[in-house]
Amino acid sequence: MERYDPLKIEAKWQKIWEKEKPFEAKEKKGVPKMMLAEMFPYPSGAGLHVGHVRNFTIVDVLTRFYEQQRLNVMRPFGYDTFGLPAENYAIKTGTAPQEVTKTNIDNFRKQAKRLGYAIDWSREINTSDPEYYKWTQWCFLQLYKKGLAYQKESYQWWCPVDQTVLANEQVENGKCWRCGHEVEKKKMKQWFFKITEYADELLDEIDALDWPEKIKTMQKNWIGRSVGAEIEFKVVDSGSDIVVFTTRPDTIMGATFLVVAPEYPGLEYLVNDDTRDEVMKYKAEAIKKSEIERQESREKTGVFTGSYAVNPATKEKIPIWVADYVLAGYGTGAIMAVPAMDERDHEFAEKFDLPIVETELVDRDLYGTPKVKYRMRDWLISRQRYWGCPIPIAYDKEGNPHPIPEDQLPVIIPEIKDYRPDNSGRSALAKAKDWLKVKVPVKDEKTGKTHLEEMTRETDTLDGYACSSWYLWRYASPHDQEHAWDPEAIKYWEPLDVYAGADHAVAHLLYVRFWCKFFADQGLLPFREPIKKLIYHGYINAPDGKKMSKSKGNVIDPLDVINDGYGADTLRTYEMFIGPVELDAAWDPRSVGGVYRFLNRCWNLLDNIAKTDKNLVIRNKTVKKVTTDIYKCQFNTAVAALMEYVNELYKNGATKEDLVVLAKLLKPFAPHLASEMLEKLKVDDEWPKWDEKYLTSDVVEVIVQVNGKLRANLTVDAEDLDDEQKIIDAALGLDKIKKYTKDGIKKTIFVKKAKLLNFVV
Ligand SMILES: [Zn+2]
Repeated sequence: MERYDPLKIEAKWQKIWEKEKPFEAKEKKGVPKMMLAEMFPYPSGAGLHVGHVRNFTIVDVLTRFYEQQRLNVMRPFGYDTFGLPAENYAIKTGTAPQEVTKTNIDNFRKQAKRLGYAIDWSREINTSDPEYYKWTQWCFLQLYKKGLAYQKESYQWWCPVDQTVLANEQVENGKCWRCGHEVEKKKMKQWFFKITEYADELLDEIDALDWPEKIKTMQKNWIGRSVGAEIEFKVVDSGSDIVVFTTRPDTIMGATFLVVAPEYPGLEYLVNDDTRDEVMKYKAEAIKKSEIERQESREKTGVFTGSYAVNPATKEKIPIWVADYVLAGYGTGAIMAVPAMDERDHEFAEKFDLPIVETELVDRDLYGTPKVKYRMRDWLISRQRYWGCPIPIAYDKEGNPHPIPEDQLPVIIPEIKDYRPDNSGRSALAKAKDWLKVKVPVKDEKTGKTHLEEMTRETDTLDGYACSSWYLWRYASPHDQEHAWDPEAIKYWEPLDVYAGADHAVAHLLYVRFWCKFFADQGLLPFREPIKKLIYHGYINAPDGKKMSKSKGNVIDPLDVINDGYGADTLRTYEMFIGPVELDAAWDPRSVGGVYRFLNRCWNLLDNIAKTDKNLVIRNKTVKKVTTDIYKCQFNTAVAALMEYVNELYKNGATKEDLVVLAKLLKPFAPHLASEMLEKLKVDDEWPKWDEKYLTSDVVEVIVQVNGKLRANLTVDAEDLDDEQKIIDAALGLDKIKKYTKDGIKKTIFVKKAKLLNFVV
């Protein structure tokens, strides 16, 4: 037979799939469904990288596995297309982000097709398509109507390079997650989503999810619920007081000083002429630091404000300090310091020579009001960028916000020439003078009549995480003109059964849960958790173990692997074989070659089909191992089991049945090669079953000969080897043996040690 030619086989099957569209999913009443998706990619100009291939192949292996089990499978695909790279490219080159995005998507689609993914391409979505973002704006308005989208003036992280605010989740060690520049704090009026309204439910329902423990813990810590009390401390000679939040109100006798955060709103009333300059200088420095930096800093810093408060339990006068280890957004922004009980307070007291008093505990309810506090803040969604979903809001002459009516959606992004933000805190949308003007219906409260009023549009756009907070539901009815998602389709397909990704442990995966709960409360979703099973996989690093990066010149381009002649099946199978799914792995070019040789060996087995079945035990063992490993997402050991199976087939000879099983088990990993093998073997791809009776270790195979020639294999319980007659009877019951012994048997020889039975006729 001809040699294994992956490029030829892959082109053939991709053409068939393109034409016959076997992956288009339809609702089928009564057939169990299975919906799978990856975290949809940002289509960069560089195309697919090896990390995408790992991500998409995990989903594809499971998609094909469940399809072969004849579940009704849906595997859609989409693109997360708003964001800074396309806009920065537009600023640099003058090319419209709309245009760049289209080019990049076309390239991504072509590459994904080259990998043979079982994607339902009729369900392709793109967040910067007006057909899509119309409904993102609709979602915003639903949150706005219920008071969960609101404006607030506050200090925000500001990246001076990207000239936009950033969410807490987007600041990493005091630096912008996008460009790496140090961030600043700026006071601005911004839009927020009130995610804190769902803090308890987000926390309480996470334990029941089939998600990795690591991710659950990260979300719990991010939400950070603490149960404690608020206690009032009177400020000496001022008539005002400071409310502190503490998780240990019972330690109040040991509170020897108070600490307020640098952002504490009443700070200026605590200072006096002697302390003002030093306190304000400290504040200016402190608010530049990130919260993580402030929390983890080894060296405690702080300044005495000049004021004192009275401890309500001891009646003692205690000093009020300002220090950056206290965070403004957590609790009340003020704490009572109990250095005898709290490690950080203790360090602070030692450094600044403040009293450390050991005391008894008091009854918890004696002082203060019980309160529950969260570390999580509301989600900042305003972005001063052009290439984002416009917020559907306009302002009247007094500056009051009004929603754009739903029948005027989408608010389309206007085309402009100059994409640069102008450093005034507004996006480049402010340059689209005609677009800014809009007439919005306003109801007169006295007369009840509606009139049109000229207003100015909001120039902030939505955080990209808003666009990805509902896309999983759009997949159910991606081209629906009437709804964001069709209620019937969503009831059939969702929640999503399997989701795979390597990022967004806190942000995206928390936001999508928040929106799910909100829309469930509006009666628009019939479930409260959007994702049943989460696979959170590792990265692929360069052969030296370092992160792949252009500047280091160690990037492996997956398309090179294909075009070098290995083909997509080798690439896919290799990336599943590379190591345990949850761990990072280093690229190994030799192992790519090894996988290619393995697929060659699979192909070459077709050349020589054996008649005698010697692989009953290993075949059943392999079916069981591959099946259970895929269920457990242990893809690397599943591939290893297939390799071992092929080794055995080379030793013992492979029957048609052996090859059918091989091709079926191989299909999720190497679908082109397996499809070609199945076609040659003239069988369908239905997932094979195993028979447990061959798998108990005390099953043995007896070789049955007639006149010294091998005629059959007989599987028996090991203990039956002692019962010679039972084995003879069983052998004589085999059709193959009946044929040769029908004219009578002269002599029967059983050699127990060799597990061999010979009939002389
Ligand atoms: Zn930046």
